[in-house]
Amino acid sequence: MTEKPQAPAMRVPLLDLKPQYEAIAPRVRAVIDAVCASQQFILGPEVRTLEARLAAYSQSRFGIGVSSGTDALLLALMGLDIGPGDAVITTPYTFFATAGTIARTGARPLFCDIEPETFNISAAAVRTFIEQECERRDGALVHRASGTRVKALMPVHLYGQLCPMEPLLALARESGLRVIEDAAQAIGARDAGARPAGSFGDVGCFSFFPTKNLGAFGDAGLCVTADEALAEHLQVLRVHGGKPKYHHAFIGGNFRIDELQAAVLNVKLDYLDEWSQRRAENARVYDVAFARAGLEAQVVPPPALPGFHHIYNQYVIRARERDALREHLAAAGVGTEIYYPIPLHLQKCFAYLGYRSGDFPQSERAARETLALPIFPELSVEQLNYVVECIGAFYSAGARAARA
Ligand SMILES: *Cc1c(COP(=O)(O)O)cnc(C)c1O
Repeated sequence: MTEKPQAPAMRVPLLDLKPQYEAIAPRVRAVIDAVCASQQFILGPEVRTLEARLAAYSQSRFGIGVSSGTDALLLALMGLDIGPGDAVITTPYTFFATAGTIARTGARPLFCDIEPETFNISAAAVRTFIEQECERRDGALVHRASGTRVKALMPVHLYGQLCPMEPLLALARESGLRVIEDAAQAIGARDAGARPAGSFGDVGCFSFFPTKNLGAFGDAGLCVTADEALAEHLQVLRVHGGKPKYHHAFIGGNFRIDELQAAVLNVKLDYLDEWSQRRAENARVYDVAFARAGLEAQVVPPPALPGFHHIYNQYVIRARERDALREHLAAAGVGTEIYYPIPLHLQKCFAYLGYRSGDFPQSERAARETLALPIFPELSVEQLNYVVECIGAFYSAGARAARA
C-alpha cells in the first residue's frame, strides 16, 4: 500500500496577480470607468500619456503604443524595411515571438548562441558568425549560405537583465546593422552606466503581457525610438500605413494599443519601480538561502552582472535533474516553469532554416537545465525560504538514494 500523499506545507504559486490587483483596485477601476464614460477607445489621451511617460522612462524620445510585445517587434522590423531577402541575427534561446516576427516579415532568422551565465546572446558568438559566415558585397553584409542580406541584430534582454550592449552596438556599427532590442522582459532594467532597456537600439520593444513586470489587463506593447522620422513611420504603419487616412504609401497593419489598456498601464506604471525592487529583494533572499543551503553542486542561481540593475522578470536557476526537481516542487506546492524547453533553432516550423541539434550547445544545455522559480513581488520571505528548503530536500542524500 502506498502512503497517502501529504498536503503541502505551503503553497507558492509561480505567479499570483491577485494581491497586486487588490492593492490598486480602486485606482484601476476609476480609470476604467473614466474611459467608459468618455467612450474614446482608440488612441486617446491615455495612450498619448503612456507613450510620453514610457519614452521618458526608457530615456528615449518617442513611444508608440501597440497591441502586444509581438506586434512591437513586428512593427519595428517593418519600420526598418526588413523583409524577403533580408536576415536578422538573434538568439535561439528566447520566447518564440523574437524569431517568429522576423520570419513573418519574410526575413531569415540567423541564430547565434548565448552566454552560459546570463543566457543572453553572446557578442563573441555574433562576431565569429559575422567573420566566418558572412561577407561584404556592394556595401551590404551577406550571409553566404543563404544569400540573404543581414540587416539587423535583435538582442533579447532575457529574464530582466540587459545584454551588455557595448560590444553588440560596436559590431552593429562595424557591419552596418540596425539594432532592435527585444526588451519585452526588461522594462526598467539598466546597465552599469544606468542606461535603461530600450535606449540602445534603433527601436526598443516592450511587452505588457500580464506576466511581465508591467502587465496590462490583456495584451499590449510599445516601441520606443530616438529617431523622429522612424517614430512617425511606425505611427503610420500602426494604422495600416494610411497617411493621410485612406492613402496608403505603405502596407501596415492594425497594431494599436487599446485606450483601456493604456489607462490601466498608466496606473500601474506608478508602482513599477517598487514592484521591480521587491522582485530584486526576493532574488537576494533566494541567493542567500541557496548560499546557505550548500547546493553549489546541484543548483546555479542566476548571477547579476556587476553594477547592472536586473528587474527579475524571472529568477531562473540551472538545476541537476531539472525535470525530477520540478515534479518534486509541484508535489510540495511550489509552481515553476521551464523557459524555454525547446530552443528556436530546433522548432519544427524553423526546420527550413536547416539547423541541427548541437548547433548551439549553450542554448540547448540551458533548455535542458533551467527552471524558473516564483519571484513575484508579493511573495513572503517564508515562501521564498520554503522553496529553497524544498529544493534542498530534493537533493538531500536520503532522497537521492531513494531515487537511485
Ligand atoms: C513576452 C515576450 C514577447 C512577446 O510579447 P507579447 O506581448 O506576449 O506578444 C516577445 N519577446 C520576449 C522575449 C517575451 O518575453
